[in-house]
Amino acid sequence: MPLVSMRQLLDEAAKGGYGVGAFNVNDMEQIQAIMMAAKETKSPVIVQASRGARQFAEDLYLFRLIQAAAELNPEIPIAMHQDHGNSYETCKSAIELGYTSVMMDGSLKEDGKTPSTFEENVEVTRKVVEYAHARGVTVEGEIGVLGGVEDGHGAGGTGLEHITDPDQAVEFAERTGVDALAIAIGTSHGAYKFTKKPDGSVLKMDVLIAIHKRLPHTHLVMHGSSSVPKDLQDIVNQYGGKLKQTWGVPVEEIQLGIRNGVRKINVDTDNRLAITGAIRKVFAETPEKFDPRDYLKPAREAMKKVVALRMTQFGQAGHAGDYKPMAITEIAKGYANGTLDTRPSMAATR
Ligand SMILES: [Zn+2]
Repeated sequence: MPLVSMRQLLDEAAKGGYGVGAFNVNDMEQIQAIMMAAKETKSPVIVQASRGARQFAEDLYLFRLIQAAAELNPEIPIAMHQDHGNSYETCKSAIELGYTSVMMDGSLKEDGKTPSTFEENVEVTRKVVEYAHARGVTVEGEIGVLGGVEDGHGAGGTGLEHITDPDQAVEFAERTGVDALAIAIGTSHGAYKFTKKPDGSVLKMDVLIAIHKRLPHTHLVMHGSSSVPKDLQDIVNQYGGKLKQTWGVPVEEIQLGIRNGVRKINVDTDNRLAITGAIRKVFAETPEKFDPRDYLKPAREAMKKVVALRMTQFGQAGHAGDYKPMAITEIAKGYANGTLDTRPSMAATR
């Protein structure tokens, strides 16, 4: 099966009332782990690569691996997504490679660190939407600024400094026409999200619900949404790691989000922890081993387990065969004739 439009995956998720995990990849084993989990749970899936991942793996290696995943798993709809594009050029290069979705993160300037102005964000995002939609490619934007730093990307901070304003979210959706919108509700990138189990003072689910009420046709995206479970932290530390105890986003909060318009949930940290824990265990228990397969295989298996669990918790499990993927050229027609227009003023007239 060719790679599928992320918009179609998310529209179907909205119809079915479930969320779709977007899992980050840098190498073959991570892609295999995701596909093993998707196959086992019969899940449609979003695979995503950050700028750092594209650099690490080199564009062509990574993209050919995704194509292999699609070819080997024809029953699984797969969307390939650029995570946190920092500029029009980054998004354009992903689309030229064959990615079926891009994130234009215009909440930060091109350096990926400094918060931008609202007008700058609208301008660059609208430009990416024009280029992408003409080619049937999905666009995710971001309004408000997330906390933390990951892969050198992020403004830092706790995530509470720039919570998304619902009025601005509506104006942003209207002026850009994005398919999906990442919002800042107190979450952060990386492992250190919260210093205790988060409550409403640090994780603003009420803001998310308010935005969904105003923007029912724009798919919401939760970033920094690893749950950072204690058992995964413990395995790393048990075998010589030195992680400070930390709290992520509880799965039940993500599920509340899914009941309120969240269709894409980004997960990276949990998989990193699972991989690192499994490798450390092999190194600690059998220091005589030196064949990379001796630790990469358990690492891949550990990541697969986490991904399969999230797929079940997000509700995407069992939905791989629900629909027939549309050609990306058909999706482009839908943007051109207005049937896929999500701008509040247009969607209201349908
Ligand atoms: Zn993110």
